[in-house]
Amino acid sequence: MPIRTTGFRIARILGIPIYLDASWLLIFGWITYQLSKIVLPQMHSKWTPTQYWSVGVLTSLLFFASVLFHELAHSMVALYYKIPVHSITLFIFGGIARIGKEPSKPIQEFNIAIAGPLASFFLAGLYRLGNHQGFFPRHADCGVERQGGCLCADGHRRLRGFLQK
Ligand SMILES: [Zn+2]
Repeated sequence: MPIRTTGFRIARILGIPIYLDASWLLIFGWITYQLSKIVLPQMHSKWTPTQYWSVGVLTSLLFFASVLFHELAHSMVALYYKIPVHSITLFIFGGIARIGKEPSKPIQEFNIAIAGPLASFFLAGLYRLGNHQGFFPRHADCGVERQGGCLCADGHRRLRGFLQK
């Protein structure tokens, strides 16, 4: 599969360039809209529109920071095995970490694959704790759990698809 790196480079973390695909803007807008116009007004009927939109944007950002954290977890384990990580791209279905060569042992591949979901469970627990203390918007953990479902599964299929010699 050809490596296609599109989008805007937004950062460099652990030496890995982080890209935002144009499709990311769509999903970011859609999630923010759903939160600000539907979810939050149902949960907090007395808030102002400014509150709905600012909390909506922050929650979407938090969600994508979680996706990025998940991909970084895969990448850190890959780097640990001296497998180069070319880039991380956030796009409409979540994130993809593109790595430079196939892990030489099945256990390495397994550890790279499992690191992402573990990171997400860790974050979900952290958000739960935060919610309990009232630090985070209450539905922030739903985003992480959803990431543990469809978004993450897709990311893994793609991660495997991008494993190259
Ligand atoms: Zn993953």
